[in-house]
Amino acid sequence: MIVMKFGGTSVESAAAIERVAAIVKARVDQKPIVVVSAMGKTTNKLLAISQAAIEGRREDYLRQIHDLRDFHSREARLVVPVEGRASLDRCLDDIFDELTELVKGIAVLGELTPRSIDAISSYGERLSSYIVTLAFEHFGLPTTHVDSRRVIVTDNRHTQASPLFPETYQKLRDIVAPLAPLKVVVMGGFIASTETGVTSTLGRGGSDFTASIVGAGVGAKEIQIWTDVDGMLTADPTILPGGHRVKTISFAEAAELAYFGAKVLHPSTVVPAIESNIPVLILNSRRPDVPGTRIVAETVHCTNAVKSIACKRKITLVNIHSTRMLGAHGFLRRIFEVFDRYETSVDMVATSEVSVSLTIDNTAHLEKISQELRAFSDVSTEPEQAIVCLVGENIRFTPGVASRVFSALNGVNIRMISQGASLLNLSVVVADKDIRQAVESLHTEFFTELDPEVFE
Ligand code: ADP
Ligand code: ASP
Ligand code: MG
Repeated sequence: MIVMKFGGTSVESAAAIERVAAIVKARVDQKPIVVVSAMGKTTNKLLAISQAAIEGRREDYLRQIHDLRDFHSREARLVVPVEGRASLDRCLDDIFDELTELVKGIAVLGELTPRSIDAISSYGERLSSYIVTLAFEHFGLPTTHVDSRRVIVTDNRHTQASPLFPETYQKLRDIVAPLAPLKVVVMGGFIASTETGVTSTLGRGGSDFTASIVGAGVGAKEIQIWTDVDGMLTADPTILPGGHRVKTISFAEAAELAYFGAKVLHPSTVVPAIESNIPVLILNSRRPDVPGTRIVAETVHCTNAVKSIACKRKITLVNIHSTRMLGAHGFLRRIFEVFDRYETSVDMVATSEVSVSLTIDNTAHLEKISQELRAFSDVSTEPEQAIVCLVGENIRFTPGVASRVFSALNGVNIRMISQGASLLNLSVVVADKDIRQAVESLHTEFFTELDPEVFE
């Protein structure tokens, strides 16, 4: 068995789904279980619909639901035989009537809870997995659909739910594993349900995570993440195009890159894969012959110090200053307790005798956090910052990496630097407006000469 996950752009249209069917067909002897994301930008659109509902913009949300139905119906009709279209229409009617009722209910209540956000955003994967199942049948692949909400069980932290692994693995073994040798199994990523059967989701980008949970649950030989780039690249292509493909990378390096913003992989993806020691591949659904990136358990020998550069944007720097800190103990504890109370995680920290600087990306509670910190210190905040993170297991064995970073970033104001907390990253904070220049300079410094075994 293998798990093949196709992201939003890989299933964005009938033509894209046809490409996916061909990719799956070529691997059908490996007993694929296919996990799909919502088509194109559907999740964003569903979230926009719930926002319009809560703001009482009735015409707006009705029009958006109508457009979304049109889009799914148009693309689905192209991958369903003529005789199947009446039943397709009936099914889409049912799904969209249900969605419309739900959205109207939210508009009436005037309240949008995390639980109802999950209910609404689940429609993307419910629709895409249904349409992909029909399409596979149409293209000659015997296929069966499994509603992920029957098998992926989570806690009830809606919009960011965590899987309950023992229950989930049991269901995957009982329900999915026996089907895979018989037919191609298609499941929606991202969606799950709580122990009491309420729809939940694994957080944005969570379909990658679904794929690795399924892979670990059924004991797959490989987990393939099919996306719109050739693999893990040496730099985020939205910031610096033209990076090199990393052929092999370790789980630890990939996890670090994902955590620090490499959107190509959801940060939790590697966890189930590591525990079950299943290799993860990142592949391009538009160029299926490119070998992609292989993520493996063991360290990958490499003559370059750095494997890739990740960026986390929209970061806020919080500076906390207090003379009471001088010689006092327990000060850091007091600071972190405040962040903890507001469930706000801190990414980077630097301390001096009388001040602490740290970065956060969730600013939902920043006002209240600052207020509490002001009870015992001076606080200033700076939005529009970015973390640029160099990742590579060789960083700690290579002398002079920090000095190369400083000289490459000559002319860019470095607000913070951190090395050593993690064994495989060196991070700097710069103003977001400087990010392109920073990444370009660092990329030139660390990737002009390449180890041909690792990069292409
Ligand atoms: P999918 O819809 O297939 O899940 P995503 O948009 O979530 O795709 O992730 C793929 C995107 O990740 C790429 O299009 C690219 O812009 C972005 N990305 C960020 N950092 C990297 C990186 N280091 N290597 C490759 N892609 C990256
Ligand atoms: N559709 C979800 C999202 O857009 C999950 C995913 O694509 O991985 O976040
Ligand atoms: Mg993704």
